[in-house]
Amino acid sequence: MNDYDKAAKWIEESNRIVAFTGAGISVESGIPTFRGPEGLWSRYDPKVLDLSYFHQHPEECWRVIKEIFYDYMGDKARPNAAHRLLAELERLEKLGGVITQNIDHLHQEAGSRHVVEFHGTAQTLVCTACGDRSPFTEHDLNKLPPLCKKCGGVLKPDFVFFGEPIPPEAYRESLRLVHEADLLLIVGTTGEIMPASMIPYEARNARVVEINIEPSRYTEELTDLFLRARATEAARELASRLDLTL
Ligand code: ZN
Repeated sequence: MNDYDKAAKWIEESNRIVAFTGAGISVESGIPTFRGPEGLWSRYDPKVLDLSYFHQHPEECWRVIKEIFYDYMGDKARPNAAHRLLAELERLEKLGGVITQNIDHLHQEAGSRHVVEFHGTAQTLVCTACGDRSPFTEHDLNKLPPLCKKCGGVLKPDFVFFGEPIPPEAYRESLRLVHEADLLLIVGTTGEIMPASMIPYEARNARVVEINIEPSRYTEELTDLFLRARATEAARELASRLDLTL
């Protein structure tokens, strides 16, 4: 029995699967990563996502934010086989939820219903003055910074900036999911971003299957079965053994 056979068998034996995903699941959908030599931070200054800098220079930050998150990623990206595998496992009532560090909404577009967006989402904007939330599509991003239609305050993307806390509800729900999990699938994340990186360690009663192109901090410390592969490659291998069409 090879590792994919074993992982497929574990999936078959589980009915409270939780997935924990990061940039590596979306990179094959064309979403650029932030870190690493090819990452966005090699071209842009991360200070545009620093909360206090944003408050002081909203227009300057928004010009870059628009380019990265609303022009560049845009709505061209489509979910891939790995997103679809997780959606399919949820539909079959084997998977209880996806905890994602991504803000790209691709899990939902693949059909996943219970998605915990640990770092928030780019889909909505939140008013820095009154807290009102609205879809980004309701705003003209050619006029920056976009302003709240209710109070005139500066809007910011509804994802977590540097210096900003994790949304408490996302944190709570992530812990609930992993505490109840019988199988944790770590997909495309090497656990570099705190505090998200600590979530898998809370899965005390779960087998842990990790899918990454390189070993991570989890591989030695936590992982029971390491599938060294791109997310879509692993998803296809698993789907064929589980008789699923992606
Ligand atoms: Zn407002």
